[in-house]
Amino acid sequence: MRTIDILYTIRLFLASIDKKGQIGLGLALLFFLFSWIVGHVDIRNLHPTSEISPLVLQIEETSGEKTVSKDTFTYHKGAKAQRSPAESVGFEYTVQPGDTIDKITTKFCFDKKLYGALLESDKDLLALDNIKPGFRLVFENKHQSISKIILVQNPAKKIAYTRQHNGQFIAKPIHIKGTWKPITLSNSVEHSFSRAMVRAGASPQEVNEIQQLLKYKINFAKDIQKGDRFNVLLARQFVDGEPTGRTKLKAIQLINKHKTIEAYLYKGSYYDAKGKNVEQSFDLKPFKGEYRISSHFSLRRKHPVTGRYKPHYGTDYALPTGTPVYATGDGEVVRVTRHQYAGLYLEIKHGPQFKTRYLHLSRVLVKPGQKISRGMQIARSGASGRITAAHLHYEFHVNGKPVNSIKATAISHRTLNDNEKPLFVKAMNTHRSAFVRQAGTLISQR
Ligand SMILES: [Zn+2]
Repeated sequence: MRTIDILYTIRLFLASIDKKGQIGLGLALLFFLFSWIVGHVDIRNLHPTSEISPLVLQIEETSGEKTVSKDTFTYHKGAKAQRSPAESVGFEYTVQPGDTIDKITTKFCFDKKLYGALLESDKDLLALDNIKPGFRLVFENKHQSISKIILVQNPAKKIAYTRQHNGQFIAKPIHIKGTWKPITLSNSVEHSFSRAMVRAGASPQEVNEIQQLLKYKINFAKDIQKGDRFNVLLARQFVDGEPTGRTKLKAIQLINKHKTIEAYLYKGSYYDAKGKNVEQSFDLKPFKGEYRISSHFSLRRKHPVTGRYKPHYGTDYALPTGTPVYATGDGEVVRVTRHQYAGLYLEIKHGPQFKTRYLHLSRVLVKPGQKISRGMQIARSGASGRITAAHLHYEFHVNGKPVNSIKATAISHRTLNDNEKPLFVKAMNTHRSAFVRQAGTLISQR
């Protein structure tokens, strides 16, 4: 646009010399000066929402370069009417292999301030730091600037990053309950447990989850024999009729030649027939010795600096830099990375249900993909990222949600007490009789 303005002025200038002489020349020079001023003053600075970049206009340029494929980049209805600043428009983007939040925001011309604000709001969740192909990002615009970004991890789990008047974002996880449909699977083993499970209708992921849960009770490779039987009650999650890929194991009975292994879900944890927790055990703290808790886990905490109420998804221990950090449970390293706010951090997945996270480290001694056993040294604590004093921020996640590690660890060693047992036994017996009915149906169908 500016180049055209200048060319037009030059043409006018030449024409004025030919026809009207001095007056025309003066007018043309005035016009040239005006064009120059307009061209050099950034209109964004005059806009009331000056710190917010007019992303809508920039996106037009990006999509014009064809850096974004058509099927992953769709304008919502009304996107054409973006000339009206009052119009709320948006678009969505599907995360591709190799994408990082850094790459995506560069692709969409986020300026440093916008990117920094977004990253800061995500420093507790680290969800944008952990995007996977197939996740979607929905961008909502208001007054030609980003007003909200929704990260859709699956139909049941989203995180909304809402822009405030001061330009900062507030991140809020949204969990959609959906409907859980029960399904009972029964079969006897011919070759292996996993093949018998898949033949009964389980997904490989569901088989893996069961094997992970019971691996401390039975060796699936060695102990399972031909003729062993199982009954499994699962619940699969659906949102608007669409499966989310999430499954909850409700109950399992595995009748082996030598022993019967049972696990029943009760108040979020698995117990055997005697009411003893069957899940893997975790250490209370990821370090040796005694260190002060500098900040407790809280879903509603008053921020010491801003005074705003903000959740704290982990427990902070006042470890001096260089203190050895140990894995609290068996698992596999899934992530080692550096984040502007969280610093050098690492994540361990402990089977399908649990995940632990260790932040602000000075050194990491393990690699992604590495198998870890409980008590193994994995890192040294530090003060990396944006923090005021050295500490270890330790997180414990159950089924994708951060929980208080101190409470969660206590459950992992627990046996139900006499007050809780009657209700548990009642729930267990309901499952057991359902299994008997299911097995009976199978026999009568033969
Ligand atoms: Zn913390």
